[in-house]
Amino acid sequence: TTRPHIVILGAGYGGLCAAYRLQKKLQPGQAMITLVDRNGYHVNKISLHEVALGNALSQDISYDLVPVVRQPHARVLKAEVLSIDRKNQLVHTSEEDLAYDYLVIALGFVPETFGIQGMAENAFQIENLAQSEAIARHIEDCFRRYAFADAADRDPLDLAILVGGSGFTGTELLGEIGDRVPLLCKKYGIDQSLVSIRCVSADHQFLPMFSPKEAQEVMDYLVSCGISFYMDAMIHEATPKSFRFKDENGDHEFKANTLIWTGGVSGSPLMKETFGDAVKRGRLIVNSDLTAPGYDNIYVLGDCAAFISKGKDRPEPTTAQIATQMGYHAADNIVRTILRRPRHAFVYHYRGTVCSLGARHGLADLKGRTVKGFLAMRLKLFIESVTDYKVSGLYNAIKHTRLFKLFNF
Ligand code: NAD
Repeated sequence: TTRPHIVILGAGYGGLCAAYRLQKKLQPGQAMITLVDRNGYHVNKISLHEVALGNALSQDISYDLVPVVRQPHARVLKAEVLSIDRKNQLVHTSEEDLAYDYLVIALGFVPETFGIQGMAENAFQIENLAQSEAIARHIEDCFRRYAFADAADRDPLDLAILVGGSGFTGTELLGEIGDRVPLLCKKYGIDQSLVSIRCVSADHQFLPMFSPKEAQEVMDYLVSCGISFYMDAMIHEATPKSFRFKDENGDHEFKANTLIWTGGVSGSPLMKETFGDAVKRGRLIVNSDLTAPGYDNIYVLGDCAAFISKGKDRPEPTTAQIATQMGYHAADNIVRTILRRPRHAFVYHYRGTVCSLGARHGLADLKGRTVKGFLAMRLKLFIESVTDYKVSGLYNAIKHTRLFKLFNF
């Protein structure tokens, strides 16, 4: 008999966890594992906002897949996934076609612009390393251009940053801006009072998952960094140098040379192409064992999956935390199936949420207990290292840890 072929699409938190677990739990005689990703590396996307302000480097938050997926029966294929043919159990990629017995779809997110005119073309989005590096370069270029221009030629918009959205991505990004702007002002001899940082958000309440008091403390901290907030404000258009939005007082336009959109995310567009209208915002409601409805050999994880916990009526929010747990669970269910045992239902264990605010502040909810300030931020680095351990093993986790930053007060 031939060995079953397990194909995993995407080397994010979910896909890499699944690949790592499968190569450990299955012997080379039991299965072949192919992990497909357009990049040959994994990115700790929970830290992309740090790269976006130049407060971390790309190499700090990413690592090669080959040393992680290195068992004789596992391989990494660096290729773009083009389409999934469920009928013939085939994945078409830019490099080769892969016939699968088990498929794990963990293709992650893309930023969602909800069709807002001009948004995709004119605003930066926190999506990948290249985009994040581009944001950091762009902001520094603007500050440098301002500083070196003749007084008469200076463009105040070079010192203006506009952020659309105040979810976790927007908030953590603003925290990094709060750290970075004083450094840039010092470096280029710019008076910080000339810098304008504004956040426009459709939300009514800031950080609704925290108590109003805690959310207010976060906002107060960001305001103390020179950031202004415009809540209950719906952006409907982006131009090359502005956001246009409506609030209860009417229409407004804010101008800036740096526009960043953090208005939300969708699962991979391949989800809709593969599963059709059942997919909403790139997410498919999965069975309790994480398989796709109607396909007991296809697992869908992370940002591509909508998992509804027992007794709840809405899907769990998409986070690295749930994706990691799903990766392990899908791998375990595949192993069970290969060993002819029944699959288990997935149970999501919520451990808490950390919102970093630059390198020195943050807010964490640990199942009802709140941790604030410096400790919360350090907690985030700790979680990052634990996650590295889960997706890539102890050796790689130690090699890549930024935990030593703990001592870098
Ligand atoms: P989100 O959907 O949570 O937030 C989107 C924000 O954009 C909201 O503030 C919303 O009001 C605003 N918005 C949307 N349309 C708008 C419009 N037209 N005009 C103005 N504002 C508009 O998106 P996110 O912050 O990217 O988060 C995505 C997912 O990733 C979430 O599930 C989140 O929990 C998770 N995440 C978690 C962490 C963490 O745990 N630290 C960090 C980042 C992201």
